[in-house]
Amino acid sequence: MPHVAFIGLGNMGSGMAANLAKAGREVRAFDLSAAALDTAQKNGAAKAASAADAVKGAEAVITMLPAGKHVRAVYEGEIFAAADQNAILIDCSTIDVATAKSVGAAAAAKGLAMLDAPVSGGIAAANGGTLTFMVGGTADHFARAEPYLKQMGKNVIRAGDSGAGQAAKVCNNMLLGISMIGTCEAFILAQKLGLDPQTFFDISSKASGQSWSMTSYCPVPGPVPSAPSNRDYEGGFAAALMLKDLKLALEAAQGVEASVPMGAQAESLYQVFAGLGGAGKDFSAIIKLLDGSWK
Ligand code: NAD
Repeated sequence: MPHVAFIGLGNMGSGMAANLAKAGREVRAFDLSAAALDTAQKNGAAKAASAADAVKGAEAVITMLPAGKHVRAVYEGEIFAAADQNAILIDCSTIDVATAKSVGAAAAAKGLAMLDAPVSGGIAAANGGTLTFMVGGTADHFARAEPYLKQMGKNVIRAGDSGAGQAAKVCNNMLLGISMIGTCEAFILAQKLGLDPQTFFDISSKASGQSWSMTSYCPVPGPVPSAPSNRDYEGGFAAALMLKDLKLALEAAQGVEASVPMGAQAESLYQVFAGLGGAGKDFSAIIKLLDGSWK
């Protein structure tokens, strides 16, 4: 039976590969980390000796790597040479738009089908199979990738041609970073003006200030019990990853001469927060930097 190659079994890739195996796919996994490979094996995958070994004979290749330089190195160094001509190549990592387009073009030049398919949703969504995939590539390649992506997520949306998945991801996360900071500022000001946080939430969540940052991820403990603010900002989406995505957004904006002053401001605030030791906290913990209560 043809198998699926899965490369990059970290926080996100681990659960994604496990869900493919659970859905009945034969998964052949590779990671530089022996511990990550052991976990993948426990979750139903077979261990491969290298990326090339995992990819040989695969009908689909899925990668979930840290950044653009890893994606370029693994595709250009191993995957392109080892992949079957009929395989569908799907990179789910969050990387810069320029690298996504360039690696996608290199695949096309070799007659290989490749898509960029970054995700929204954190580790819990990766484990639970509820990720949202934003996909860049041709409609034909998208149709071939969709069955695999649907086994790892609940929303699979084609954003456009190669690189469009990464473009959608950085625009979405830039907006998220900005809206989180705005929500934090509003709660701080409300409290200083004498408003109870729950009362302000009850009003603003039903008025025009409403946003996902407020109603699903409220940075103040209390109003949204499932939000990381209720567990000392542990877990969730790390400020370091928000900073990474904001940097990618600024880089993309520079490339097309788009003016993003609020995105730039959000990036500098997360840079300061990370520098003061906040990188590992959930990104809503930026409220502690803004209200002066951070260490
Ligand atoms: P991670 O660092 O936990 O995992 C990356 C894995 O890739 C590691 O296990 C590492 O050993 C492996 N790796 C690196 N180079 C390799 C190589 N050459 N060959 C084989 N394996 C290699 O990162 P993560 O949190 O799983 O994130 C993966 C991607 O998903 C990133 O691009 C990240 O921005 C994105 N993302 C993460 C989250 C999140 O909440 N963690 C949410 C959305 C998107």
